Amino acid sequence: MSEANPKLIQGRTGPWEIVLGLEVHAQVASNAKLFSGAAVGAGAAPNTQVSLVDAAMPGMLPVINRHCVEQAVKTGLGLKAQINAWSRFDRKNYFFPDLPQGYQISQFKDPIVGEGEVIVERDDGSAFTVRIERLHLEQDAGKMLHDQDPNASFVDLNRAGTALMEIVSKPDMRSPEDAAAYVKKLRTILVYLGTCDGDMEKGNLRADVNVSVCRPGDYEKFRESGDFGVLGTRCEIKNVNSFRFIQQAIEYEARRQIEILEDGGKIDQETRLFDTVKGETRSMRSKEDAHEYRYFPDPDLLPLELDPAWIKRIEAGLPELPDAKKVRFQAQYGLSAYDAGVLIAEQAKADFYEAAAKGRDAKLTANWVTNDLAARLTAGGIEIENSPIFPAAIAELVQLIEEGVISSKIAKDVFERMWAGEGSAGEIVEKQGLKQVSDTGALEAIIDKLIAANPGQAGAVKEKPQAIGWFVGQVMKETAGKANPGVINGLLRAKLGL
Ligand code: ADP
Ligand code: MG
Repeated sequence: MSEANPKLIQGRTGPWEIVLGLEVHAQVASNAKLFSGAAVGAGAAPNTQVSLVDAAMPGMLPVINRHCVEQAVKTGLGLKAQINAWSRFDRKNYFFPDLPQGYQISQFKDPIVGEGEVIVERDDGSAFTVRIERLHLEQDAGKMLHDQDPNASFVDLNRAGTALMEIVSKPDMRSPEDAAAYVKKLRTILVYLGTCDGDMEKGNLRADVNVSVCRPGDYEKFRESGDFGVLGTRCEIKNVNSFRFIQQAIEYEARRQIEILEDGGKIDQETRLFDTVKGETRSMRSKEDAHEYRYFPDPDLLPLELDPAWIKRIEAGLPELPDAKKVRFQAQYGLSAYDAGVLIAEQAKADFYEAAAKGRDAKLTANWVTNDLAARLTAGGIEIENSPIFPAAIAELVQLIEEGVISSKIAKDVFERMWAGEGSAGEIVEKQGLKQVSDTGALEAIIDKLIAANPGQAGAVKEKPQAIGWFVGQVMKETAGKANPGVINGLLRAKLGL
């Protein structure tokens, strides 16, 4: 496996490289919160999904949600990571108006999941590995509402106490594109596992992006020694919630740091915000150190001890994951790595494909799903699960092509009519009279007529057989594109004595 490609940026004083490590916050797919039974879900009226625990009423005690723990274990297994049978919750102390406890319950020294790895594919087909440092469970905070009243701010605690998984990578990404590709792959894995819905627009998956720059050769020294001191000082860009913004934020931040360094300045380790309108990052606060949070084990919660047999059962119940599905699609359907990669990127697309390809030409089916259907769905902003054309309908279309009833060219027209709701492929072909003419009698008559009318062309073809294309084109014209090209070719060759 190749390592991540470093992106080289030319500065005034020579070339620079980017180093990127990501902390991804993924909201756990769960009906209830991490330490209370209150419901989770966007769209509810403010403060209607808040238990006494979430509101931090005196004397309330947190109780761990078993399902959230199972989701974290599942995710760890999907990241090929170490599952820690013993972990613990800590209090991370800080004040925020939307954090009534005055601390966030998180995992500091002993997270539930340790080191793992994610294999990331690039668009050009190459791949690289991102090492995972850890995954821990923690609570989300509530939300401030500043736009309800000109003179007051309000607090909505619906989100307070919702379970998050923080997935921390090692600094293994070296370009904005690679960082976005990593988050894309991570998202695919989580959605396959059903442990996070991956909805970035709602903020259910968001990334804190750590950016530093160094001189060529320094990163290799870091990988050999593990010494962070040979890398540049990092800045952390908080809560970036789209693939495009991740890339833009990194581009901007790397250039900002290079300019400071080339002017002889120093990078302050700080937390920054990405302004999506201006396309700039700006300082939010200087980076706190862990000791400033006064982390200590939460006395209200016992350490979390997992039964190895339970972990085994969860492992046995894991779905087929994207990497395995890709390998299987290549082997079982004879697809290229590229086609397989496109199909498995979304579980629903892979399922659609498998349903359509049953008993059909696998490559041809893949083309219809990834090209024509995908283009129509994207243009209409429709998810494949809601496709108005079902897998069986694509299968029928492919069957008509396979059996030579329609040409691939006519099939495009049939597909457009299917999309317009004119009926199934078979019905449309029948109704519109689109059947390919393979009836040799009818074709022979057309060919005889053409040869008789164009003796010059016929002579030319005898001299130069490649010129036969002209006749094929003429027959197609006569039959409005419905003639079977294979049959025409055979007949022409026989008639012209080739
Ligand atoms: P914190 O909570 O202080 O942000 P974490 O250990 O949770 O610290 O995360 C640090 C993140 O920053 C990790 O993803 C790590 O890979 C990344 N990182 C550390 N040093 C650098 C660096 N010099 N350049 C880029 N990323 C870095
Ligand atoms: Mg962190």
